[in-house]
Amino acid sequence: MEKIRLGISTCLLGENVRFDGGHKLDRYLTDTLGHYVEYLPVCPEVECGLGTPREPLRLVGDRENPRLITSRSNKDQTDRMMGWAETRVAQLEKEDLCGFIFKSGSPSSGMERVKVYGLNGVPAKVGVGLFARIFRDHFPLLPVEDEGRLHDPILRENFIERIFALRRWRDVLKEKKSLKNLIDFHTRNKLLLLAHSPEHYRQMGRRVAGGKEIPLPELFSQYQILFLEALGLKATNRKNSNVLMHMLGYFKDRLSGNEKQEMLDIIEQYRLEILPLIVPITLLKHYVRKYDEAYLKEQTYLNPHPGELQLRNHV
Ligand code: SF4
Repeated sequence: MEKIRLGISTCLLGENVRFDGGHKLDRYLTDTLGHYVEYLPVCPEVECGLGTPREPLRLVGDRENPRLITSRSNKDQTDRMMGWAETRVAQLEKEDLCGFIFKSGSPSSGMERVKVYGLNGVPAKVGVGLFARIFRDHFPLLPVEDEGRLHDPILRENFIERIFALRRWRDVLKEKKSLKNLIDFHTRNKLLLLAHSPEHYRQMGRRVAGGKEIPLPELFSQYQILFLEALGLKATNRKNSNVLMHMLGYFKDRLSGNEKQEMLDIIEQYRLEILPLIVPITLLKHYVRKYDEAYLKEQTYLNPHPGELQLRNHV
């Protein structure tokens, strides 16, 4: 697998680009996730020419369409930022990004719940930073998160699973497009997709099954949209439990009554959020190895991201 490229708000890497000359280093992103990804830093305020240090900015006015205004001198920087951002997202198309991590709360980089000041001077956390908005409009299906949300173990696991899945898909796109490659990819990702969206999995299966009727570029493009949409839906305890039960079905003639009951109990405890996902997964992986279960061995669901990240220990 090629290294995963992620866009990131520059200040999260510890660069002194904030309005006050400081940074917002996030050690998890640099010291842990950083081992597996290559970051492409983007600081909208510096890159659009506002310099460091600078007067702080804020969003003001209409909640849907706020202006970006300097907080003391009331200078409107909206057009400068928008003009730069449109050019920057067009450049980013060539960067093969698998996602973006934004700085939360920023009037330029925040992806949600950014303060918008009404004309009465009272803020409401309802806005999106100007660059983040243009980025998301330009790459609507690309995985995005902010560093604050990534402290939530479930959101973190989902985001990292998505960027690894997207990297694997991009690696398939680098090969010669063929129906066989698409079928192989779809087969290997069946359980992963079921954990996110059984409905998307069915739709994708119909596309792949009727693949001979559709020109390959069109087929791959339709598949990609459904794949990214599916991964954008959160994998929940309920959906994961269904996938675990499905996997258990592969061993129904090989496990003893006691072993089956133990597995059922563990899946139930996971469903009730008493045990983390890593517990049933570890036991099922043991059976996959023991019985050399060829189909399950190939499933990305069993190893969607490096175990060292311990993401499934907390969901
Ligand atoms: S939040 Fe965005 S604009 Fe502000 S310093 Fe960080 S990268 Fe630059």
